[in-house]
Order: sequence, then C-alpha cells, then structure tokens
Amino acid sequence: METVQSLVQLRELLETRQISSYEITSEYLARIRRTDCQFNSFVATYDEAALRSAQLADKHISDGLLKPLIGIPIGHKDVFCVKGEKTTCCSSMLDSFVAPYDATIVENLQNAGAICLGKTNMDEFAMGSSNETSKFGPVRNPWNLDRVPGGSSGGSAAAVAACIAPACTGSDTGGSIRQPASFCGVTGFKPTYGLNSRFGMIAFASSLDHPGTLTRTVEDARLMFNSMSGHDTQDSTSSTLKSASTKSKQKQMKLGYPSSLFSDLPNSIARPLEEARKILEEQGNTIIEIDLPHFNVAVAAYYVISCAEASANLARYDGIRYGLRSKQGSTFDELCERSRSEGFGQEVKRRILTGTFVLSVGHYDAYYVKAQKIRRLIRDDYLRAFESVDLILSPATPTTAFRLHAMDREPTEMYKQDQFTVPVNMAGLPAMSIPCGFADGLPVGLQIIGPHFGESNLFELGVDFQSLTDWHLQCPATLS
Ligand code: GLN
Repeated sequence: METVQSLVQLRELLETRQISSYEITSEYLARIRRTDCQFNSFVATYDEAALRSAQLADKHISDGLLKPLIGIPIGHKDVFCVKGEKTTCCSSMLDSFVAPYDATIVENLQNAGAICLGKTNMDEFAMGSSNETSKFGPVRNPWNLDRVPGGSSGGSAAAVAACIAPACTGSDTGGSIRQPASFCGVTGFKPTYGLNSRFGMIAFASSLDHPGTLTRTVEDARLMFNSMSGHDTQDSTSSTLKSASTKSKQKQMKLGYPSSLFSDLPNSIARPLEEARKILEEQGNTIIEIDLPHFNVAVAAYYVISCAEASANLARYDGIRYGLRSKQGSTFDELCERSRSEGFGQEVKRRILTGTFVLSVGHYDAYYVKAQKIRRLIRDDYLRAFESVDLILSPATPTTAFRLHAMDREPTEMYKQDQFTVPVNMAGLPAMSIPCGFADGLPVGLQIIGPHFGESNLFELGVDFQSLTDWHLQCPATLS
C-alpha cells in the first residue's frame, strides 16, 4: 500500500478488491505502533475491535453491500463519545469516564461503514492552539518534531499528516480544526453551525462548537461530511436545513479578498497565499476586494463568549455525578472544590474563572452583553460581504507552527493565533484550511470561507485548487 492514500483512493481499492479492509486496517494499526511514539497523536487504539469490524466489512464488500466509507479506518478526536470506550477529552477530570453511547457523528460514520482505529490526542477540553495541555502530553508536528501541531485537534491533524490515519474527526470552536490543519499541511473542514450534530461531543462553548474533519483532500472532506451530517433531534441546535445542492456546479466564482488581513503577515507566509490567489484568479475566478470592519475585535469577544459558555458547561463536573472524585473533602462544597482543583488543568481553570467573572453580576453587561453585540456585528459583516461574493479567501493562521513551550509564559499570545479563525465560528459559517505552500519548511494553509449552507461551492473551489496544486500530497521527511 502506498504511504499517502486518500479516502477516495482507498474506497476504489476496496471496491475493486485490490486490497481488503483487513489489510488496510492492519497496516494503519501497524503504522501507529511503529511511528506514533514520535508524534503522540493517538491516546488509545482499538486494535481488536477494528480488525473484527474490518473482517465484517470485507464480508459485506464481497456480498456487494457497498456503503460510502465501507471498510475504511478513521480516528476520532477524544472529544467524541464512542460507546463502551473511555472518552477523556484528554483531561484528568474524565480519566475514567466510559461513554454510555456513541456521538451522533460517530454513529453516522459507522453507519456509512467507517471503522474506528482509536482516539486522537487534543488540548484538554479542546481549549488551546498547541496541543500542549493534554494530560497525555504534547503532540509533535510531523513536519518538525520541535514544533507544535496546532490545537486543539492536534492529534487528528498530526495523524493524518503522518499517514497513520487516512482521516480523523475534529472539533472547531474557534479554529481547532483549521489551525492544526494549517500547521500540519492537511485539509481541515468545518460546516455551517448545526449541520453536524453536537450530540455526544463533550461541550466546550456550545454556541461555537462545530464538529468537522481532518483529511488529506477536499474530496475526502466532502465524502466524510456527506456521511456525518444530518438533522439530529438529540441536538437542540441541529439544523433542519441542508447545505445547498451540489448539482448547480459553479465553476467561476467571485472571491472576496480582505487584503488588510494579509498586510501584516510575514513575507514567508504572505508569498504562498499570494500564489494561491493567483492560481485561483487564473482559473477564471474574480477577486473582489472586501472589508470586514469588526475583524480586529473578534478575538476579544470570542474569549469572553467562549469562556462564559465554558464556565457554564464545565459546572457539571462536580465530583459527584461523574468525573474525577477527590479522596478528600467532607462536605459537598469541599468535595466539589477539591475534585475540580485536582481534575482540571491550568488553562481550563483560567477559562472557567474568566467565564465566571464575565457572567457575574456587575460585569455581565460590560463584558458578556457587549461581546454578544460584537458577535452580531461580525456576522453582519460577513452577510454583507456575501451579498457580492461567493466565497472569501483568508489566511488560516498568522504564523507557521511554533516551537513547543514558545507561548508558555503568555497565554494571550496563543489566543492571537486564532485571529483568522474565530470570527468564522462567531458567525457559524462553513470554512476550511487547505495546504497552499511552505514557509521555512513548514506548511501554510489557505482559509476559504463560505456563506451559511454554502458547503458545495466551498468543496468545488477546494477540489479545483487541489487539482492544480500538489501541496496536499507532500509528506513530511520524518516518515522516510
Ligand atoms: N484555540 C481556541 C481556544 O483555545 C479554539 C479552540 C477550539 O476551537 N476548540 O479557544
């Protein structure tokens, strides 16, 4: 089997019986065993169950029972519940939590025939941009082991970049799919808010949490999305609408270009992005200058809203119902306090404290209400832009992958990593990061943003771009 295989290629090999699911699954499990000690991208593998499912898939294939992802192994970020398996969110708080049910997207992918290889590493409770806050230790970037893979879906991005999983799920609250995709040179996609169910995904900030994928190609992202998405009565914010039909294939598009967002980038990153713009222009797309006036206040507003929601969501970990229970504490308050002190890491505590503060009487209007108003203005900026363009181009990240521990002292420096991705979550828009070149040997991602339910145009443009470039086919030297 070739090292780099897209889901589409694997499906073709399986359907034409050139390879069995058992062989593919064994190969990926062997790669994880052989090489993941370098990256730390998986926190658990389900070898036996995966091989059993692979045998069953082979039987189905030989009986002609074909499904979109039949017999293809994938990894799930450890934020998604997989029935009967530990789901820890890479936190000591959930160290021994065994999920009693499958997340809807896990179930949907399984119904489409996908096989679960195991769980991937992440920042604790999905809070972070470097995958350094995991209780399982940091993930390393396959392009350079001294660098972070991005976060919080760092394990999923590194696993796909290192070719030890053909695709993985991820979650994106402020950039946690697109930022690691950009740092690791893979395709990171999240749809319109509400299209992928949040049921069974451990909550961080519910109004911003988007399940999505990390894949090698845009075609694969589409394949995963078609199997994952759909209305779910168990998620109160699940959409009853579908994304626009793919039939109306639109070849030439108007692409919004907020050039002020590109002007502060280091040259090494600006250059590949400029090249990407030219390629898209040569394809007959029109570039139109747009303005996003509230872009600069998005990060501040995001950290108010996401921390507020996190402090409410994480209030459930009281040491009584589930989660870590401290051995000390004789009253309920004491037990709760000790359990939370022992169970949560430093960054999670920082978010809970910030969230509790901005929601408190006396500060609520000044912070929380104001941030919500800003959120509306950001959304309106995008809606106005989409009156004259089909899609928007943007950088995915302001830098390439930084060194491990580079931001230990100043967490707000890390928060600025999300400047190009958080506004998109605030507006609930579909977006992806696709590889568009390298800067000093590290991958650079181009972000493409669509209007609500505009996934099909997003996929079209991404597929076109990948048919003209080979950045998505490059492999890190750590693999050879
Ligand atoms: N890095 C951002 C944060 O720490 C985004 C996280 C995410 O998308 N889950 O909040």
